[in-house]
Amino acid sequence: MIIREAKFLMSNSRVEQCPDPTMPEYAFIGRSNVGKSSLINMLTGQKGLAKTSSLPGKTQLINHFVINNEWFLVDLPGYGYAKVSKDARVQWGRMINYYLHKRENLTCVFVLLDSRHTPQAVDLEFMESLGAGGIPFVMVFTKADKLSGSRAHQNVVDYLRKMEETWDELPRHFVTSAEEKTGRDEVLNFIEEVNR
Ligand code: GDP
Repeated sequence: MIIREAKFLMSNSRVEQCPDPTMPEYAFIGRSNVGKSSLINMLTGQKGLAKTSSLPGKTQLINHFVINNEWFLVDLPGYGYAKVSKDARVQWGRMINYYLHKRENLTCVFVLLDSRHTPQAVDLEFMESLGAGGIPFVMVFTKADKLSGSRAHQNVVDYLRKMEETWDELPRHFVTSAEEKTGRDEVLNFIEEVNR
């Protein structure tokens, strides 16, 4: 897919205020600092589209972007940031769960996983909850350039093994680096295929 246009549309805390569900929607989510903003900027080819390293814990919103006037890209607030208060976490959970279950044009969730890390409970639990809710998702490993090939690869393999313990059919996965721009075509072609 060629990205001809990528523009920010709006930020909301409520599904009811999200744009009319006239186009397929793809949401990006992961732990704080997983590299979500960098990935969105890399995919869209616009450096400043999603803000990188924005302060975790501040107001967290559902951010809509329009791509090629054909699909919505949604940047969801990250989870698993230790310094966030319990209240903020509960609020996050409510907003995200409501969005994930109610947004009728949500086509696929991209769950971002840092390829430097071994499988993390918080990520596995989040994917379990998506599965339980029947919400389609794929896994996107980020920062693949950070480690020597074999170590990053081992983390990916370990994640897939862990997933195999509970999933009959493994969700699709992509290995990416915003730094080296790898995995871009794979992710964009996947979206194009699903949109067809
Ligand atoms: P977010 O909080 O998930 O949006 O994460 P950011 O995109 O702000 O990235 C968090 C940190 O990881 C920043 O210091 C980025 O420069 C770094 N980072 C993000 N993606 C990559 C990548 O593909 N490779 C490397 N080496 N660093 C990355």
